[in-house]
Amino acid sequence: MSAQRRSRHTNKDLFDRACRVIPGGVNSPVRAFKSVGGTPFFVAKGKGAYLYDEEGKSYLDYIQSYGAVILGHADSRITTSINHAAIYGSTFGAPTLSEVLLAELIVERVGGCDMVRLTSSGTEAAMSAIRLARGYTKRDKILKFDGCYHGHSDALLVGGGSGVASLGIPDSAGIPQGAVADTVVAPYNEVPPLDESYAAVIVEPVAANMGLVPPRPGFLEGLASECSKHGIILIFDEVITGFRLGTGGASDILGVTPDLWCFGKVIGGGMPIGAFGGKREIMELMAPIGPVYQAGTLSGNPIAMAAGITVLSLLDAGSYQLLASRAERLSRGLEEAFSAAGIEAQVQRFSSLVGVFFGPESVTNYAEAKRSVSLGLYPQFFTEMLDLGVALAPGPYEVIFPGLSHSEKEIDRTVEFAREAARRLAR
Ligand SMILES: *Cc1c(COP(=O)(O)O)cnc(C)c1O
Repeated sequence: MSAQRRSRHTNKDLFDRACRVIPGGVNSPVRAFKSVGGTPFFVAKGKGAYLYDEEGKSYLDYIQSYGAVILGHADSRITTSINHAAIYGSTFGAPTLSEVLLAELIVERVGGCDMVRLTSSGTEAAMSAIRLARGYTKRDKILKFDGCYHGHSDALLVGGGSGVASLGIPDSAGIPQGAVADTVVAPYNEVPPLDESYAAVIVEPVAANMGLVPPRPGFLEGLASECSKHGIILIFDEVITGFRLGTGGASDILGVTPDLWCFGKVIGGGMPIGAFGGKREIMELMAPIGPVYQAGTLSGNPIAMAAGITVLSLLDAGSYQLLASRAERLSRGLEEAFSAAGIEAQVQRFSSLVGVFFGPESVTNYAEAKRSVSLGLYPQFFTEMLDLGVALAPGPYEVIFPGLSHSEKEIDRTVEFAREAARRLAR
């Protein structure tokens, strides 16, 4: 790759500067490379499947903002819509047509989801969905699954996946006992015992924050039937899976319909966004027509709406076939790379989501994921790949996000690099 704009900064200098004014030098913990070692690279720009850092080095990128840019970086259709929207004003504190259009696009595509409320992050979406479920059922207790991540709100930051998992923090300081007293944590892929004391069960229908862990056949079906038996609101947190696995989200592919959904990432086209939605009867409990309060100065932000409308309009059944076939090519290649080097690893895939677990056995829950991570191979694999020019997420519990900007050529290069990285790992 030709060197891009070369700044006077090295990544190391920038990180030192950042650490003086930003805790840990980052605005989201996983970015700090704590669990893989080394200094994070500072991104100067992104284009398609590639990132370019401040030193001019390029990376074939599989972080893709944790799945938020499904079309790749700086896709011209997205940047045009953002530029166009910005000309007319960036925020009003009043409703706009663009909010209606994006809400319609979501509701049209997700069967059973009658209404949505737009937020500025997935955290807000999950937090508000829980509040709504509690308001609707007039019950307090909620259940989440170990290793699933639903953002960083107090009640949901227990048994968390993603960055919380890779930092080895079981929960966080600063959360009062009372805030999590009503949160029960259960192992993923087993239908937990439930009763009439629960307001909601929240789950990632395909878990993608403890590595990639698909639902076992019958798990989500069992959960849905137990929830309906006891009048519990079933919430699918589709912040990663929504509009990544198919036009109707994971619920459509898996054939299980929850009561509420959370969305984020993909639906903002790379702009800050979140959404929660579901059955009209439940959603109409939201203020201003109901008693459950939730709000946001920048909610339904017109620039985020413009990017979201563009991306959802572009994604069709063909896009998802393409994504899944690229992901399959990548996962098959990675499997061959590890086995050629004699390294025991499981490449787990669901549709377009891919995850690597080192070790001899496939992973079905967080305890097994932690066992795999404790083998300690991910940091070295990550570092070798980065050295070869492939940016994987700097944490062993994150997944790989092949996107529409990764062509077969890029996938095949990635596999070649993985072969080399696996050989180095085996030494
Ligand atoms: C990323 C994520 C969130 C949080 O979304 P933010 O926009 O980072 O607040 C919630 N749930 C899941 C499943 C996620 O992957």
